[in-house]
Amino acid sequence: MNKNSSNIMALAPNTSNKRETVCIFGTGDFGRALGHKMIQSGYPVVYGSRSTQISNLIPKDAEVLGHAEAAQKAAIIIIAIQRQHYNFLTPLAEVLHGKVLVDISNNLKLNQYPESNAEYLAQLLPGSKVVKGFNTVSAWALQSGTLDASRQVFICGDDVEAKQMVMNIVRGLGLTPVDKGSLLAAQEIENYPLQLFPMWKFPIFLSLGLGLFFFFYSLALDVIHTYIYENNNFSFFIAITVPNRVFPVMALTLFGLVYLPGIFAAIIQLHRGTKYRRFPDWLDKWMLARKQLGLIALAFASLHAVFTLVTPLRAFASWRTSKQIISQALSNETVPLDHTNAWLSDSYLAMGILGFFLFVLLGITSLPSVSNSVNWREFRFVQSKLGYLALILCTAHTMIYGGKWFLNPSAYKWYLPDIYMLSLVVPCAVLVVKFVLIFPCVDKPLTRIRQGWERNPRYSE
Ligand code: NAP
Repeated sequence: MNKNSSNIMALAPNTSNKRETVCIFGTGDFGRALGHKMIQSGYPVVYGSRSTQISNLIPKDAEVLGHAEAAQKAAIIIIAIQRQHYNFLTPLAEVLHGKVLVDISNNLKLNQYPESNAEYLAQLLPGSKVVKGFNTVSAWALQSGTLDASRQVFICGDDVEAKQMVMNIVRGLGLTPVDKGSLLAAQEIENYPLQLFPMWKFPIFLSLGLGLFFFFYSLALDVIHTYIYENNNFSFFIAITVPNRVFPVMALTLFGLVYLPGIFAAIIQLHRGTKYRRFPDWLDKWMLARKQLGLIALAFASLHAVFTLVTPLRAFASWRTSKQIISQALSNETVPLDHTNAWLSDSYLAMGILGFFLFVLLGITSLPSVSNSVNWREFRFVQSKLGYLALILCTAHTMIYGGKWFLNPSAYKWYLPDIYMLSLVVPCAVLVVKFVLIFPCVDKPLTRIRQGWERNPRYSE
């Protein structure tokens, strides 16, 4: 009976409304914002400050005392002070002995100091239990209540009990603690707020480079060439026509680049006869950037869809249609409906719509909230099988669009292929090699390698 009741006690949430007092050193921006949030959540707050004068910026119900006096009132002390002032804590070593010190500091540069601020604090005060946390939450987010993007609070520390105490406070504030392990993780946690979209750098630079190349390529062939050889000033093409030629090319090329590293990985594994050797660094990085490349490709495909929908509204489109009608009327002839063309145009549009639909589906399943709700097999099915189907449909959409132009010399201005032909290079290469890879004579050894078989095992039994 006793045993049971103690288990129930351990599992039951703390129903008492009384929360422990928390001390905050520093009445700066962060100290005040955190203090407000703590008081709102029911924690009595006492500030340790160089000045005990109460200003109206300080939360109403908080006490402000000298550092030593304030520290005596709480077991947890949050150090809301910049690292360069930590020296003032050394004379307080005795009063801080055995206390939990929460280091919330950030730096101005990545790896600014040889050791993390939290480790430095632990070296200054070896008798205290240092926990790193709260540095990924901004004072502004705490005050304005817009904590959605930073609801997770990374915590690390060497003392498990101290870490638990801090994590309980994090939960008490309505945030989610994420245990990152020992104090060794502090440097990584301190670097985190300084990173600027680390996973997006390579995809964004690649897209920028490719986008500029395709833009000038299209500009040269569609505007400059027409101006020089046909004496037509189509400079207004820069607004809609050129972008709407670049967007689909970017979408298809980047979409192909999402699947290309998987093809390289398969070839490397087949060649080495093992999966137990690391891929080259460039391939590893490329594989990790596939989601971002896919999302950028989807953005270009969406722009292509919108730009295509506005095409009939353009003055150029209505001018060209009326010109055709007038010339037919003047020559008194009616061009009969070309059924082959009608088929090609309808199939080209259908492929584009279906490809785009699957592309959007891939984008949605890559969102963490969706990908977390499907199992690994379902995720692979969507990203690999449906992904390849989307790639086939989008490639077919472009091929049918080009169709009869591939062999037409007028499509090669300045002996250069039209831009849509360039967009087919990567996806066609991917699809051809993938087709070879699914042949049983290639697929079987590859599957065995991926299940752990080695052609020349290094460690024989
Ligand atoms: P702040 O506005 O400059 O406040 C720092 C406080 O430190 C001062 O108000 C002062 O408090 C105290 N202080 C200054 N010089 C001192 C000295 N020589 N000796 C002792 N105490 C001194 O800075 P903050 O923005 O609140 O940032 C505080 C810490 O939180 C920093 O380490 C920062 O990296 C971290 N942080 C800030 C944010 C944010 O959004 N602001 C977000 C995450 C982490 P008293 O006058 O009361 O003594």
